[in-house]
Amino acid sequence: MKEKLEQIKEEAFKQIAESKELSKLNDVRVNFLGKKGELTAVLKGMKNVSAEDRPKIGQLVNETRSIIETKLEETKKALEEAELELRLKRETIDVTLPASKPITGHAHPNQVVLEEVEDIFRSMGYEVCDGPEIEYDYYNFEALNIPANHPAKDEQDTFYINKDILLRTQTSPVQVRVMEKGKLPIKMIAPGRVFRSDEVDATHSPSFHQIEGMVIDKGITFADLKGTLLEFSKRLFGPETKIKLRPHHFPFTEPSAEVDVSCFKCGGKGCRFCKGEGWIEILGCGMVHPRVLEMSGIDPEEYSGFAFGVGLERITLLKYEIDDMRLLYENDIRFLNQF
Ligand SMILES: [Zn+2]
Repeated sequence: MKEKLEQIKEEAFKQIAESKELSKLNDVRVNFLGKKGELTAVLKGMKNVSAEDRPKIGQLVNETRSIIETKLEETKKALEEAELELRLKRETIDVTLPASKPITGHAHPNQVVLEEVEDIFRSMGYEVCDGPEIEYDYYNFEALNIPANHPAKDEQDTFYINKDILLRTQTSPVQVRVMEKGKLPIKMIAPGRVFRSDEVDATHSPSFHQIEGMVIDKGITFADLKGTLLEFSKRLFGPETKIKLRPHHFPFTEPSAEVDVSCFKCGGKGCRFCKGEGWIEILGCGMVHPRVLEMSGIDPEEYSGFAFGVGLERITLLKYEIDDMRLLYENDIRFLNQF
């Protein structure tokens, strides 16, 4: 019996030593000390032992059980410590490693050009004004001398909320709102998003940006308009820039003109960029129509003014030599990172 117990103990020790995980160790415990374990089997066999030997054998069994339990406990503790050690090592943060830098973006090319244009006009004493993108038909058309059946309304077809409310096709309504306030003189630009029901292609989009400007004061003449636009063009495209005014028609100005700037690539000699013309069309302008002044409560006998409008995207595309307007709206990082 003593030999049998010794054998069990050695086998248990061997299996404990081979256990590299806590779950394995638990299996060993069940195999030897559990209800159906080997040591329990020995106790069950005690009925064959003589009465006088029973206490001695019982004590031996208990001793063996205790030895195995102690060994199990020791090994369990060692395994737990090793595991903790491993976890600590694995989860250690090396604070001396260089930090990963957050990705920083930059202003969109449209925004860069917008701020540049705003700076130029602010430096000439202009105020930057804002207005609603959802606008009354009255402010967008009627008050700008474009009555219901005017053909210009076709060219600026837009999105209607209802018969009287629409998405503005130009930022001119902001000018009407400023004129209505009746504070004179006025020297303002109105940059902002505008809408047209255009199909998307390389040069059109149903949503784009305009910067419109207006000056109203006593004694404002066409010469003031030309001087202002020349200064603006030089600041934006370079000091050598010349401008050319071609007669045109807009309902809200009279006389009206379209403005070309000398090509800033070839200086006016003609190149691929200006399609051999030497000139590039950039904006529309004119003297504010007396009727527009009247409708806003300004006396055209006493006051006069000029207005102009330029497409923000038009300038951005020119300045950065981008040949497709859609690229400005797709927000492809690979494209935007080039600026
Ligand atoms: Zn050119």
